[in-house]
Amino acid sequence: MLNLKVDKAFLLSIGEISLNGWNGNKAKAGPGAGKEAIFLKINGKRVRLVVSDDSPLEGTVRGNHVDLVYEGRFIGSAEIEKPVLHSPENAYITVSERCIFRCRFCDINRTSGGRKSIDDVVNLIKKDIDNISSISITSGIMFSPEEEVRYVSGIVDELARFGKPLGVSVYPSEESSHILRESGADEIKYNLEVCDRKLFRKYCPDKDFDFILRSLSDAVEVFGEGNVFSNIIVGLGESDRAIKSGIDRLVGMGVIPNLRPYSPGKINIPSAGRPSRERIHKLATFLKKRLDEAGLLSRGQTMCHACGGCDLSPLEI
Ligand code: SF4
Repeated sequence: MLNLKVDKAFLLSIGEISLNGWNGNKAKAGPGAGKEAIFLKINGKRVRLVVSDDSPLEGTVRGNHVDLVYEGRFIGSAEIEKPVLHSPENAYITVSERCIFRCRFCDINRTSGGRKSIDDVVNLIKKDIDNISSISITSGIMFSPEEEVRYVSGIVDELARFGKPLGVSVYPSEESSHILRESGADEIKYNLEVCDRKLFRKYCPDKDFDFILRSLSDAVEVFGEGNVFSNIIVGLGESDRAIKSGIDRLVGMGVIPNLRPYSPGKINIPSAGRPSRERIHKLATFLKKRLDEAGLLSRGQTMCHACGGCDLSPLEI
């Protein structure tokens, strides 16, 4: 019989919600970028759900709460959180909204968005500076990884004066860790995305698996253990074993992995799907154990660690 206990892992396993009475905004970054998304607080934990009429999870907005119904049964109520700049309390800004790489699960390379100038980004932050506790920057790749890192570092230079914790998530270049650290970044994220080498080649044809790992290792030297992050997607058809060995490898290097449930994009990937609640919980529990053993069980100050809407953090278990 279906257990309808509503918790964060359950909501993450669905990932989407159909909403009545909602008047929200489109997400510019993160899973489902370009679609509307809502942030909910359930049992004190933040969850971000993409708004979709096709979701089996239904929500009815009542003031600052949403009543949740799954398969015709009321399963609980969640508080609505308002994002500031993409995420509640944290600014997360996408600089270049297009990408020359062709990762199959990512939609940014299928958009022809523009690139924000330094002034664009500074003005966005200035407007909301009193409502944010950290600043995070991410970017597609407009021309080349090297050029993107240089462009983003110019922005980070300017943002450092706000005195907030600063995180940057980009594809690495040879010198990116040194360049971004010198510009004032406190934390860095280079996403490995796919732990299974064979699947990596299939889904990320333009990226270099070994180069990302080497860059993460360099980043730990520059930023220090616990300040370097990497997203791993769960649900692309990989085994638990592949995820666990990826976790072991990254944690062994001093990197904190972020387990990110797969979100369907514009391209249909037949073998991919949202991981189940049980799988999300099991892998997050494994990650918690490994981070604890390595003395890395802490919450980052920026980026997805500061927000936590899309992943079950080991600290939430
Ligand atoms: S967890 Fe990361 S990608 Fe998801 S909403 Fe928060 S900042 Fe955006």
